[in-house]
Amino acid sequence: MAEKKTTVLHVPFDRPDAYHALNMPVYHSVAFEFDSAEEMELAFTGRSAGHAYSRITNPTVQYFEKRVQALTRALSVTAMNTGMSAISCALITVAQAGSNIVTSNHLFGNTMSLLKEVLSPFGIEIRTCDLTDLEAVRRHIDADTCAIFLEVITNPQLEVADLKELAAIGKEAGVPLIADSTVVPFTHFSAKSLGVNIEVLSSTKYLAGGGTSLGGLVIDYGTFNWKQSKKLGGLAQQYKAFAFTKKLRGDVYANLGCYMTPHVAYMQTLGLETLNLRYKAQAENTLALAVRLQQTAGIVSVNYPALPDHPFHEVAQRQFGDLTGAVLTFSLESREACFAFLNKLKLIRRATNLFENKTLAIHPASTIFGNFKPEQLEEMNVDNRVIRLSVGLEEVEDIYQDIFQALE
Ligand SMILES: *Cc1c(COP(=O)(O)O)cnc(C)c1O
Repeated sequence: MAEKKTTVLHVPFDRPDAYHALNMPVYHSVAFEFDSAEEMELAFTGRSAGHAYSRITNPTVQYFEKRVQALTRALSVTAMNTGMSAISCALITVAQAGSNIVTSNHLFGNTMSLLKEVLSPFGIEIRTCDLTDLEAVRRHIDADTCAIFLEVITNPQLEVADLKELAAIGKEAGVPLIADSTVVPFTHFSAKSLGVNIEVLSSTKYLAGGGTSLGGLVIDYGTFNWKQSKKLGGLAQQYKAFAFTKKLRGDVYANLGCYMTPHVAYMQTLGLETLNLRYKAQAENTLALAVRLQQTAGIVSVNYPALPDHPFHEVAQRQFGDLTGAVLTFSLESREACFAFLNKLKLIRRATNLFENKTLAIHPASTIFGNFKPEQLEEMNVDNRVIRLSVGLEEVEDIYQDIFQALE
């Protein structure tokens, strides 16, 4: 950790800046110029590292990727314009018509809708099961499974599956484990050491450093043998561990046009510099609040995996340490009580987003999941009586007092 704190601040540029800029400048240029036709040929055919066109690569974006790579020690990092782009591109890279993705019903709303409304009509089967039930996972995998996909802590259920066990099942079956780690940053949790092959995340959340910008990352650890993949097996003959990255960057991401803008890369590079500090402070606030809310009249139950009586406490602690993100949920008597509570808040903002610097509250069932049918909500375990709190950097006592007065 101490090492990462230093590393993140001092990743060198690929080439010296002409003006000795201390921070990577924002290269807001679509195109880049070449000294000769020969150099141009090399860059356009991928045989030299030069930048040609910002939909493919851009110096500011590449520097952001390089910083993330220094922290995660990944084989490759690809930055995109949203978390949804990152998830879409990662799954489209491994899936094709006839393949299936084994996942859970407990997914971020847009991710669920991506799987069922966008990928499924292209002939990709979505198989949902309880990913904390390892036997169920084994039963759902077959020769056409192209990925096990999950969120490391589901939102808003806050369910935690055992990544090492899932990775072992994947390894045995020749299936990569793709995990969305949006809720716990890679400065505090090593997806690679837990067996995750491809990590995806919404950098809109913690990395953006205060809700400044949308972004997403696909992190390839180079730990999967792609010769086992029906789709990437051919590429793996030539590109070995790079087969996934080759397909992702060369075909999927560039052709779908998912690039991150240089300005966003600049802001998120700055966000990365304080990620450690912000996460720790916000997650500590969250734990302190969770403990206190458990003893507060009017609150029926509190859900935060770091609480000792949480059903996934043990696995969460093993994977993420003492702090399990900066989001908690709690339930009140009814949907009406939730609305009344939200309307009385004075300090806490009514907004969706996670890991802003400010504390945000939302009623997920009527908003993020507002267009799902009641039976779908039940399947997804999204309860009508639940408030989600994304805890910010305020004085924890001030957050608590606002909750306390809004409950009255
Ligand atoms: C927010 C979020 C996403 C989507 O990210 P965007 O940057 O908004 O596209 C995906 N997964 C999880 C778990 C999220 O919280």
